[in-house]
Amino acid sequence: MTTASRTNLLNLTPAEAESALRAFAESHGVPAYRGSQASRHLWGTAPAATFEDMTDLPKSFRALVAEHFELPRLALAAEQTSSDGTRKFLFTMHDGQAIETVAIPDGDRLTFCVSSQAGCALQCSFCATGAMGFARNLTVHEIAGQVRELAMLSPPLFATNIVFMGMGEPLMNWASVDKTLTILNDPKGFGIGARHITVSTVGWLPGIEALGARKEQFRLAISIHAPTDALRATLMPVNTKFPLAVVIDAAAAFDRRVTFEYVMLGGVNDTPAIASELAGLARRCKAFVNLIPLHPGGAMGFAPTTRENIGAFARQLRVHGVEVAIRKSRGTDIAAACGQLRVERLERRRPVAAN
Ligand code: SF4
Repeated sequence: MTTASRTNLLNLTPAEAESALRAFAESHGVPAYRGSQASRHLWGTAPAATFEDMTDLPKSFRALVAEHFELPRLALAAEQTSSDGTRKFLFTMHDGQAIETVAIPDGDRLTFCVSSQAGCALQCSFCATGAMGFARNLTVHEIAGQVRELAMLSPPLFATNIVFMGMGEPLMNWASVDKTLTILNDPKGFGIGARHITVSTVGWLPGIEALGARKEQFRLAISIHAPTDALRATLMPVNTKFPLAVVIDAAAAFDRRVTFEYVMLGGVNDTPAIASELAGLARRCKAFVNLIPLHPGGAMGFAPTTRENIGAFARQLRVHGVEVAIRKSRGTDIAAACGQLRVERLERRRPVAAN
């Protein structure tokens, strides 16, 4: 049987995979519980790399399952570790496309920043991924597979939190992201609480509505980056498709806590007047504002806002009653902004620093 005709179990939700495996077992004269047993090896804390590794199953059943189903892997092509413990992984897929995943430790938490597309079509002016252009959407197994691959490392890495803030706009790939959310959250998948899973978007409206329609309490983060259409359009071309007013309406209508992501670009979006305008939007949506320092090298012709000015901007927001945090710069010595490891590999440059 060819690979193409086998069913990829990792593109299915845990419930779908279990039911496919149970039906398969029964149709081959094997008790259905063997199918459930096999499904428990797909995700979780000890995922099986191959069917052969499912050693609690009879050898003959493992061989039969392997003829009809597949468990595709992502190939780990590069890894960097920052002095602050942040680890960045470059995975390649069957067609040679490369994506990045970042694991960020913080006390008891380990947050995985996952990619949802290879490249990105949205061309935000400060973003390395946007500069690469769009290659393709990732399938379910390529998104959830990033978490699975890190759980198969030795020693393994287990996420307590997931953020869809790697390469790509997740809500432009909703069909795959929707199913991936189920795999991440389902106790038979990775069992990560919905409140610990954040989908970050530029404000892709249909996707915000689809995420809001899910019953689980998944978190929404919106990349605002500027409080006026005139400024935002210069940073984010998508603003012409979904202008700020529309995005803010959607954020205000979202029935759970929303975070505004705001990258601090020196001399561009960091003045006190702009802080006051941003505060107005945040208050309307009861949004929490996350200020993101640009990494020290800057990006695409932008300079980082100074620490003092970031502090002043945050204070200005607080004066207006807005909750705000300044995100810690993590992994700056390995260029952990999205897309940079892939850019380095493509350009055959030496990484900024690796150990
Ligand atoms: S910031 Fe996000 S949405 Fe914008 S180009 Fe980069 S990856 Fe795409």
